[in-house]
Amino acid sequence: MLHYTPDILPFTISLSLTLCLGLVAVGRQTPAARTFFWLMVSLSIWTGCYIFELSSVTEEGKYFWLVAKYFGAAPAPVLWFLFSLYATSRESWLKRPVWLALGGWMLLTLVIVWTNPLHHLMWTSMHVGAGQPELQVSHGPFFWAYAAAIYIFILASVALFFNFYRTTQPLFRRQGLLLTLGGFAPLAGRMSEDLLRLDLLPRVDEVVFFFLISGILFALALFRYNTFHFVPIAHHVVIHNIRAGIVVLDPREHIIDLNPFARELFGAASGDMIGVQLQDVISSIVQKGTAQVSLDEVTFVRDGIQSHFSLHRSPISGHKGRLNGHALVLFDITARREAERQLEVLAQTDELTGVTNRRQFFQLAETQAGQARQAGRSVALLMLDIDRFKGINDIHGHPAGDYVLRETARACSSNLRPSDLFARYGGEEFVAFLPDVTLSEAASAAQGLCSAVASLRLEHDGRPISVTLSIGVALLQDTLERCLASADAALYASKATGRNRVTVSPGSMHLAASVS
Ligand code: GH3
Ligand code: MG
Ligand code: MG
Repeated sequence: MLHYTPDILPFTISLSLTLCLGLVAVGRQTPAARTFFWLMVSLSIWTGCYIFELSSVTEEGKYFWLVAKYFGAAPAPVLWFLFSLYATSRESWLKRPVWLALGGWMLLTLVIVWTNPLHHLMWTSMHVGAGQPELQVSHGPFFWAYAAAIYIFILASVALFFNFYRTTQPLFRRQGLLLTLGGFAPLAGRMSEDLLRLDLLPRVDEVVFFFLISGILFALALFRYNTFHFVPIAHHVVIHNIRAGIVVLDPREHIIDLNPFARELFGAASGDMIGVQLQDVISSIVQKGTAQVSLDEVTFVRDGIQSHFSLHRSPISGHKGRLNGHALVLFDITARREAERQLEVLAQTDELTGVTNRRQFFQLAETQAGQARQAGRSVALLMLDIDRFKGINDIHGHPAGDYVLRETARACSSNLRPSDLFARYGGEEFVAFLPDVTLSEAASAAQGLCSAVASLRLEHDGRPISVTLSIGVALLQDTLERCLASADAALYASKATGRNRVTVSPGSMHLAASVS
C-alpha cells in the first residue's frame, strides 16, 4: 500500500533528471558514455525504489523497497568507479582480476542484502518510526563495509579525475574540471552532513541527490564538449584504418598491441601475436621467405610482389622518463622505392632506343675493363655508325630516322650475348663492349651485326628504308679511351672503304698476332 508524502517530491525530480541524463547517453558508442548510461540507470533504480520506500505504509512494503533499492545501490558505486577509469583513459587498469573483484563485490552486496534475515549482517533490526518516512534500521557490520567501499570508490575516482585535470592538454581542461567537481559532489555532501552537521533534508537520505549533481556535471563533461568522446573514437578509427602498421612493444620487446594492418603484414593467420617477442615474429617471417629485414626497412614478398616498408621506432616514456616500451610504425614506401628504381633506370637508359646510355656505358665498361685487365682476360670494343643516316632523315623525315635508330638498336641488342654491353654512344653511333672474346670472335660478332642490320626489312609510310652499319673493332690494351679511339679509327676506315663493313684496328691485329 502506498501513500503520498511530500518527502518524495525532491526525489521524483531527481529521478526524472537521472532518467533524462541516461537518455542523453543512449546510442553513444564510447565505453565512458555506455558506463555513464548504466550509472544513470542504477541511480534511477536507487532513487525510484527509495521513493517507493518512503511512500510505503507498512513495514513489509518499506522493507521490500529497501531491498529492491540495492539493485541500483549495489552497482552504482562500481559503475561510478568504472566511469572514472574510462573517462580518464585508464581502461588498461581493467585487467581480469579487477573485473572479478568489482563484479564480486557487487554480487556480494546483493546476496548479503537479500539474505539479511538469515545473518543480519546488513541490518540488525528495523521498525517503522512514527512520522518517519524511512524504515528505521540499525546497521550491521556489512553495512559499514558497504559504506566504506562507497567512500573508497568515490575517493579513487576523485583522485583519477583530479590527476586527469592536472595533466591533460588545455583542450580537455574544462572537462577535467567538470569531472573533478562531479566526482567530488557526493563526498562534499557527505562531509557537510557528517562534519558540519549541515543536513538539508533531515528526515531522508539525500546522498542520491549529490549523485544527481555529479550526473549533471558528468553529462556536461561528456556530451557538451564533443571532443571528449570524439577524440578517442577518432584515434581508434585512424589506428584501425591507416595503411601503416602500428606495433606497440613492452620494454622487453614483447608485442602488446598491433593494428589490423600490422597483423595483415605479419601474416596474422599464424595466430594471436600479443605477448610474442618481436624478434620471433620477424625471424619467422624471414624464415618463411615472406620478408627481408634491414635496419630501417622491411621488404615483404607476397605472390612475387615486393612491398617496402620503412621502420620507425619511437620510445614510449612514462613517469619520470622511465622507458615503457616502443611504438613501431611501418610506412608503405613501395611507391617511393619504385619511383627511385624507375628514376635510376631512366638515368641509365637512352630515351629513344631504350638501350644503355653513354654515361651508364662508361660506368659499367670501366669496372668490367678493370676486372678483365686484372684477370688477364681479353675484351673487344665495337664502334658502330649507321651509314648515310642523314640521307634517311632527309628523304623520309626525322620520325622515320628515329624509327630506324630504334630498330637498329633492337637488332644489335638481340644479336649480342647477354654478357655483352650495348649502348647508344650518341646520334646514330653505338658502342659494344664484348668481354672474353678473341679478336676474330669480335670481328665475326661485328660482321653478324652488319648482316643483321642490312637484312632488316624496314619501311615508313609504305616506303622501304634500307639501313647498313659500318663497324670498327679494337682489342682492349690499356685504357678504355685508347681502345675507343682505335675502334673509332677502324670505323673511319670502314667508312672510307665503302661502308656496310667491319674493319679491325691494325694495332689490335698486331696484338692478336703476337699473342697467338
Ligand atoms: P655517314 O655514313 O658518313 O655516317 O653519314 P651520316 O649521314 O650517317 O653521318 P652524319 O654524321 O653526317 O649524320 C648523322 C645524322 O644523324 C645527323 C643528325 O641529324 C642525325 N641524328 C642524330 N641524332 C638523331 C636522332 O636522335 N634522331 C634522328 N632522326 N636523327 C638524328
Ligand atoms: Mg653515320
Ligand atoms: Mg656519325
